[in-house]
Amino acid sequence: MDAAAAPANTSALRLDVALALLRQAGQAEPAGDAGSPAYLQALIDQLVDLSSRDALTGLANRRNFELALAREVDRVARSGESALLLMVDIDHFKRVNDTHGHGAGDLVIRAVGQALTDSVRPMDLVARIGGEEYAVLLPNCPAAFGPQVAARVRQRVARSSVALPDGQQLAVTCSVGGAFAPQWVRSTPGIWLQRADLQLYRAKAEGRDRVCLEHTAAPDVSVQEREMLLGSHAIQDSE
Ligand code: GH3
Ligand code: MG
Ligand code: MG
Repeated sequence: MDAAAAPANTSALRLDVALALLRQAGQAEPAGDAGSPAYLQALIDQLVDLSSRDALTGLANRRNFELALAREVDRVARSGESALLLMVDIDHFKRVNDTHGHGAGDLVIRAVGQALTDSVRPMDLVARIGGEEYAVLLPNCPAAFGPQVAARVRQRVARSSVALPDGQQLAVTCSVGGAFAPQWVRSTPGIWLQRADLQLYRAKAEGRDRVCLEHTAAPDVSVQEREMLLGSHAIQDSE
């Protein structure tokens, strides 16, 4: 066996913590010779997967979501393809915890995650980005379909009732806010997120269990985005 193919000294690699993390997550140790390139690659893949997922729901976590959002902002700016971001927040979730306990709250968080996943395409990304807050990133989603897509997401959550260990069925609703990435404009993930968040805030303020989308007929481009596109002197230039 040549030196390059020989398994590395595994104790020097200090794999014990990585393997303990995998075990704790219920995952098996990679197959093959410990320390071989194939073994190490499989281990890295498993750790990447673990660090990208939310432990409670198995959905993408906030870190994974932020990476995907940045990639999508870049893709939309280059391709002009339309992409929709939905922010979803469970309504009156504190009441669930207060009335039925934290365990029931966790069941609701998982059930809503599943309902969201069931309501969108496999290519869409559903992430849990906070306690009872989710984001859904829908690449290649034409503006004309936005209201229908967002309504389906909301309805799917409202239709799913959660079975509690004591036999009760719990009805849950959520509020949804959404915004499209400005096409052909170099925006930032932060600005896009803020816009969708603003719509979620509106949906809450208008009574919850509803969808608010930024209207797309004449999408607002912020001063910051306009400057990124045209430079800060663009307005004087056109005068
Ligand atoms: P609103 O309709 O305005 O969204 O009200 P709300 O009660 O849903 O919102 P609020 O932000 O006041 O409550 C969120 C609660 O979520 C507070 C926190 O204790 C709970 N929470 C956060 N993370 C978890 C979790 O992982 N499990 C459980 N069971 N509860 C959580
Ligand atoms: Mg919240
Ligand atoms: Mg809430």
